[in-house]
Amino acid sequence: MAWSIHLAFFGEGEVWPWLGLAVLAVLLRHGLQILRDWSGQQLAFAVRADLREELIATATRLGPVHLSHRGHSGSWASRYQEQVDALAGYYARYLPALGLTVAVPGLLLAAAFSQDWVAGLLLLLSAPLIPVFMALIGMGSEQIHQAQQERQNRLSGHFLDRLRALDLLRRSLALEAARHDVAKAAEDYRRLSMRVLRIAFLSSAVMEFFSAVAIGLVAIYVGFALLGFVEFGPAGELTLFSGLFVLLLAPEYFQPLRQFAQSYHDRAGAIAAAAELAPVLQPPAVTGQRSEPLATVSDTALVELHNVTVRYEADAQPALYGLQLHIRRGEQIAVVGPSGSGKSTLLALCAGFIQPESGSVTTGAAARPFAWIGQRGHLFHGTLRENLLLGAPYNSSDAELGDAMASAGLRLDDPTLPQGLDTPIGEDSRGLSGGQAQRVALARALLSRSLFWLLDEPTSALDPQTEEDLLTRLLAHAREQGITVLVATHQESVYRRLGRIVRLADGQLQEDNGV
Ligand code: ADP
Ligand code: MG
Repeated sequence: MAWSIHLAFFGEGEVWPWLGLAVLAVLLRHGLQILRDWSGQQLAFAVRADLREELIATATRLGPVHLSHRGHSGSWASRYQEQVDALAGYYARYLPALGLTVAVPGLLLAAAFSQDWVAGLLLLLSAPLIPVFMALIGMGSEQIHQAQQERQNRLSGHFLDRLRALDLLRRSLALEAARHDVAKAAEDYRRLSMRVLRIAFLSSAVMEFFSAVAIGLVAIYVGFALLGFVEFGPAGELTLFSGLFVLLLAPEYFQPLRQFAQSYHDRAGAIAAAAELAPVLQPPAVTGQRSEPLATVSDTALVELHNVTVRYEADAQPALYGLQLHIRRGEQIAVVGPSGSGKSTLLALCAGFIQPESGSVTTGAAARPFAWIGQRGHLFHGTLRENLLLGAPYNSSDAELGDAMASAGLRLDDPTLPQGLDTPIGEDSRGLSGGQAQRVALARALLSRSLFWLLDEPTSALDPQTEEDLLTRLLAHAREQGITVLVATHQESVYRRLGRIVRLADGQLQEDNGV
């Protein structure tokens, strides 16, 4: 472009070929930029997809017990969504910008020096100023980014908690306080976000300022040299071509640096997100041995615990200590004890959700798959059919679903289920009573055809009448099918109906009438 302008001015030759070449170069440049952006986006996309898969794999591997220990569902949602996305800028913009920052200014500098070493020197000297100022501004930015993301996690959890408890909040007339709470948390988050933005804008502004000053210096030098006011060095040999050439190169020289400065903000955000994500992807601190399949193949043994000790935290009191327990097939066992005595831990151990610190857990083939029913059967947002089919390892017909529901004591023509199997169920079992939700959970367990049922205080949230009915159905069905049942409970009305009672206190076995 510089050469064609030079030619046009002095009429020393044909302008058009050179102008065509310039247009071609501009097109090529845009094509390469598109390629660069596209490949950066592809890379960022692949990284995010991998990471999301890894997060899901980790959550699955951790199991429900350790999972809940690594943050509430709100922060998991925020990790999965926003924090993984926060990494995108690093791969899509920062890495390509870094490569260009190393390669392009060096090349352009060589080109400038080839024409006029004073102009080259001006560019060379102004460039290092920029990283220095950037570093000064960027130093605090990583911590601020990290604080912002922590706050975002907390805000997600905070909001989700209150949303879930909306009913309770309304009934306890605490809506106004909760609203104020959420507003305050959001305001804190806003303030922190503004700090992040301020740093981003400030660093861009510094960058723009210095590049503008440097370009201005080059322009002044070129202008005065062409006018013949500069006697110094190579100024006398400067032509319109070389002057224009250097002047056109100057903004390009700073362009990669400017992009780098902008993407520096992406980098800080990505590092903060990675710092939040990395510990989540770590294996649990207390791993213990994996439970082994039952070595001594015996027809009667289902789960054998030998001298098992479980600790959740390396230096905490053991949740179970020196436990010795043999569960035979078809047994109906009540695990009783006060709250905190280790009942749920024992069930989680039998399920393989956690591993013992010492001792061994061996399980027979019939112990997998197992069915789990907790205090409140968790039903997902979806139809009744979808919720029932969740546990079924095969495609059950509607008739089978109806049978399972009937065995659980819930008829499909019940007026509260106006659309039968297609009745929509709200998040967290909304629309069903506690008893109905437990019945759906029971029907789901029946459909799974598991031969091992783990029930963690399955009736504690129900009224005595419903509890009685549900237990009768459950135990009768288990007896009929030879299902092994382990029920954690502290209600006498429950455990007096089971054959064997295992009593725990402070994680130790107090009584076992089935040895
Ligand atoms: P129970 O079901 O009989 O009420 P748990 O098995 O839930 O008793 O708890 C036994 C002990 O282990 C308690 O001291 C409890 O605080 C502790 N505990 C249970 N779950 C966890 C966990 N995920 N992380 C840390 N400690 C836990
Ligand atoms: Mg419990």
